[in-house]
Amino acid sequence: MNFCPNCGKEINQGASVCLSCGHAVNQENVQAIIQPRGKGLATISVVFGSLGFYPLIFIGSIVGIITGIVGINDKKNMYIGRSKIGLWLSVGSFSFWLVIIVIAALSSL
Ligand SMILES: [Zn+2]
Repeated sequence: MNFCPNCGKEINQGASVCLSCGHAVNQENVQAIIQPRGKGLATISVVFGSLGFYPLIFIGSIVGIITGIVGINDKKNMYIGRSKIGLWLSVGSFSFWLVIIVIAALSSL
């Protein structure tokens, strides 16, 4: 699988021009991209977002929200989909505990 060195989109084997941005590609600069960008950040976001549903470590969802936002705003991130999932998981787990805390606070009045 090859990726455009300019915009990061997937390009066809043997293509000389990227179809999404028009960047001229040759085999040399295609092979320069070994590791698609953004994978680590997106994975961190998903992991912390999921961990955020457990008690006591829900603070991790803040990490998930930050890494998710950074990942989505990174134009060269090849894992924007995963970053979005991470962000929604994190926002979901954070709001989940926020609601529980509010209910607990209200019921103790
Ligand atoms: Zn391109």
